[in-house]
Amino acid sequence: MYNIVLFGPPGAGKGTQSEKLIEKYGLTHLSTGDLFRKHLGEGTELGDSAKKYMNAGHLVPDEVVIGMVEDKINETKNITHGYIFDGFPRTTAQAEALDQMLAIHKLSISGMIALDVPQEILKSRIKERGKTSNRVDDQDEDKINVRIKVYLDETLPVADYYSIQGKLTKINGVGEIEQIFDSITSVIDSYQ
Ligand code: ADP
Repeated sequence: MYNIVLFGPPGAGKGTQSEKLIEKYGLTHLSTGDLFRKHLGEGTELGDSAKKYMNAGHLVPDEVVIGMVEDKINETKNITHGYIFDGFPRTTAQAEALDQMLAIHKLSISGMIALDVPQEILKSRIKERGKTSNRVDDQDEDKINVRIKVYLDETLPVADYYSIQGKLTKINGVGEIEQIFDSITSVIDSYQ
């Protein structure tokens, strides 16, 4: 069983690679961005409370995110192949909470795989995605810049959290989708 954190800035390709990894390894996808968008679409109370943060490109408060992830882990606790965490954890507090939630189920993170992509490429990828994604936060240059800044200021320390535990591997996130996928799978196949 692998429990993988797929890490990287907005537009790094986490969603694209997650889909392929789920298919290959039978992992359960836990994307906090997707979960929030589902709540938004369904007009739930949680969706309403997350909306203003998401649309501005800010992080949703930790307690809201952690509660939502806890629910999802409890709902899926009988899975056998492990999780792929995509867009979570985004703060050190979230990473600590995740370790605790997994420990309750006698699970732990196998490793973090970080996709490395230069800022200019991120911005053009997100703008391109914005043409079809219907995401408010993908369509405005200022909001894209805010998200990248939030990533650098608040999320990047999460890589240190896993690095200290010897669990971080960085991958070049620029190139062909298949080539990047191959780099990721060779890391996963090296996990015990
Ligand atoms: P991207 O990687 O393109 O920024 P996501 O789909 O992962 O997009 O997230 C969209 C938005 O949802 C984020 O900008 C943020 O507002 C909110 N969000 C998602 N995951 C988290 C998280 N772990 N902590 C706080 N906010 C989150």
